[in-house]
Amino acid sequence: MHSGAVFRPGFLLTTSDFTKKNDQDQAGGLTAVSKSFVELNNVRLRYSEGDDLALETTNMKIGKGEFIAVVGPSGCGKSSLLKLVSGLMPPSEGTVIVDNKEVAGPLKIVGMAFQNPTLLPWRTTLDNVLLPMEIVKPHRNRLRKHRAEYEERARKLLASVGLEGHEDKYPWELSGGMQQRASLCRSLIHEPDLLMLDEPFGALDAFTREELWDILQNLWMVRPFTVILVTHDLREAAYLADTIYVMSKRPGKILVERENPLPRPRDQEATFTQPFTDLVHELRSHIRDVRES
Ligand code: ADP
Ligand code: MG
Repeated sequence: MHSGAVFRPGFLLTTSDFTKKNDQDQAGGLTAVSKSFVELNNVRLRYSEGDDLALETTNMKIGKGEFIAVVGPSGCGKSSLLKLVSGLMPPSEGTVIVDNKEVAGPLKIVGMAFQNPTLLPWRTTLDNVLLPMEIVKPHRNRLRKHRAEYEERARKLLASVGLEGHEDKYPWELSGGMQQRASLCRSLIHEPDLLMLDEPFGALDAFTREELWDILQNLWMVRPFTVILVTHDLREAAYLADTIYVMSKRPGKILVERENPLPRPRDQEATFTQPFTDLVHELRSHIRDVRES
């Protein structure tokens, strides 16, 4: 039905990628390669010469398909870290490597979503989701001729986050949570290998936020792209991430790297269990140390 090169049939519809992920985990060789899909080597950042460091020496290794969260006090350099990895800004020292190549400019394989859904008010939900296709190669060259195929892809993605029937609505006709779902779809429509989320659910009420955790977890479990989630919310980090990094206040650096032992899929019930609350408490104590240091 679709050209396999562009439209992977499994996308969002089957769980075949679960198997892929498990295979990777079990196959030692593959894991070794995947262990460094994103790598920061002795990265430091200052915004202007003579300025204090925004980011102190930072080293990170993020595996392919891994979901990591970065937590830390305001101004510690979390958003700066995302800018470095996506190639929007070069490090002052050190190297950033993504998919075995040093990052030297904005990456095409990245999808991004922010606290503010930033949907264009004059476009429908469907057309907002399709926006990256007008920008990212090779899609932008194919879009005109293969519009129906791309629309179908966008509709499936919207349906998978519960927005079926809202495709033709404008952003102002959607609730905040629905806008953020659409924004997630827009960040994923070009099937990026790397998804960066900068406090994406920060503006939502607690119920809507937790609904979106499930939606994001589900999207990721069906097609495990690599995720870097920046969040203030320790429960969000504990719910979603495989690994949680705690950063110090400015100049930011990674103080703690914590594997998350909780099994998947995680659900709302899990947030009331001892292992979950223990993990959140532990993260909170690290953050308290950071703030008091
Ligand atoms: P966070 O996302 O953790 O709140 P940021 O990465 O946005 O922190 O910022 C880290 C530090 O760098 C802050 O002290 C901030 O004021 C500073 N900063 C961020 N962007 C710029 C910029 N464009 N120019 C100069 N300083 C900046
Ligand atoms: Mg920020």
